[in-house]
Amino acid sequence: MITRSAHEMSAAMVKGEVTSEQLTQLHLNRISAVDQQVHAFLHVDTEGALAQARAVDAARSSGEKVGPLAGVPLALKDVMVQKGIPTTAGSKILEGWRPPYDSTVVSKLKTAGVVILGKTNMDEFAMGSSTENSAYGPTHNPWDLTRIPGGSGGGSSASLAAFEAPLAIGTDTGGSIRQPAAVTGTVGVKPTYGGVSRYGLIAFSSSLDQAGPCARTVLDAALLHEVIAGHDAHDATSINAPVPEVVKAARSGDVKGMKIGVVKELNGDGYQAGVRSRFEESLELLAKAGAEIVEVSCPNFEYALAAYYLIAPSECSSNLARFDAMRYGIRVGDEGAASAESVMNLTREVGFGREVKRRIILGTYALSSGYFDAYYGSAQKVRTLIMQDFTKAFASADVLVSPTCPTTAFKIGEKANDPLAMYLNDIATIPVNMAGIGGMSLPCGLAPEDGLPVGFQIMAPAMQDQRMYSVGAALEAALLTQWGSPLLSKIPALAGSK
Ligand code: GLN
Repeated sequence: MITRSAHEMSAAMVKGEVTSEQLTQLHLNRISAVDQQVHAFLHVDTEGALAQARAVDAARSSGEKVGPLAGVPLALKDVMVQKGIPTTAGSKILEGWRPPYDSTVVSKLKTAGVVILGKTNMDEFAMGSSTENSAYGPTHNPWDLTRIPGGSGGGSSASLAAFEAPLAIGTDTGGSIRQPAAVTGTVGVKPTYGGVSRYGLIAFSSSLDQAGPCARTVLDAALLHEVIAGHDAHDATSINAPVPEVVKAARSGDVKGMKIGVVKELNGDGYQAGVRSRFEESLELLAKAGAEIVEVSCPNFEYALAAYYLIAPSECSSNLARFDAMRYGIRVGDEGAASAESVMNLTREVGFGREVKRRIILGTYALSSGYFDAYYGSAQKVRTLIMQDFTKAFASADVLVSPTCPTTAFKIGEKANDPLAMYLNDIATIPVNMAGIGGMSLPCGLAPEDGLPVGFQIMAPAMQDQRMYSVGAALEAALLTQWGSPLLSKIPALAGSK
């Protein structure tokens, strides 16, 4: 049962083959069996999840109409607040904090009857590409436990690949939904900026952050997308327009006559050979399914990474100022006559990890008077140029595509002390965030040289998220025919799995 898709689990509940309580218990058992090795979860809410499941079962048996994902379990990235449940954002500074309210995403999940199993591990404040920056130790990739599961949302994606949950929530500031999806062989979608409310999402870089669905199939991601999306008066950047019809698109998977633009700059030197070959094969499959493949050029993408690493740290230096030892989480050194300033200093010294400190310093510097125009100001201009590149490219293609990441999952520790090497993992995902458009990653096979999953990225214009789902579903169907069974059925078994 736990290897099925969320959609199939839901159908099994409708038919009365399984209750939500049983399904939830099966996942809790699975977590007990494998999570010591995977470490996808920071907190498992056993009682809360079972209570939610029983409530859905009761509603269903009393004939109440429930939504399509009612009773299906889900793993929640620990950057999303949930009332009363420990929420750390992977940071020591928030240890012990229990939020007094639900984020909008959590409220919507609860209303839809989705069962929240617990909180997943992540890079501290979502800064990283490997989940090694978590203050609580790394998550391990279920394909190979010596490798990273991607980041920052490595816990969410690993929980899917390890069959600990069929659905998860991620957040994507520069790639943190798509890159972990790519290296774990799962699906991850960053919706159009403003498509999903950021209320109750602990802020890293407010103009880039966006929550989205993580799943094992394109249809499951679409079902979850429709549950969490929509306008929210609590978020001033939330878009007040109908949610794109992503479920309909995922079900039809029709790409006939669609123009698919291959971004020249995101598929060349620096991309692993096996990543490129699987990507090229996928293009052929899409052409066979009736799409027209064209090449597009986005010359300013070359500067996206550099501009991102000025904008994101600048915004983070402002957002993280709220962790002042007075309002949330831990407090260090307040004995005797310590000043508020020294308590703040000591708390931040102990509470923030190295990467977070690096970014606060970088961002503060980039925003300081005298340097503001040269750094932050220039980065914002580059952002405009990237948006213009997208606008031009979308004039000749309905969607754009590229490999999601330059390489497959690397070894834990391999890049941990080399920030620049770490930043390069997001070279293909960052432009999407800079422009506020949508991006999806879905698995397109295993790289021949290492047998690890490769991700295929699809990008669509703002509020045209359904196009990614049409193309994703078409590619997924074509690949399934070729493989005979889903990619994750080829995952080496974890101890304790049955
Ligand atoms: N890896 C990128 C960073 O470290 C993106 C992270 C994210 O999307 N949250 O900033």
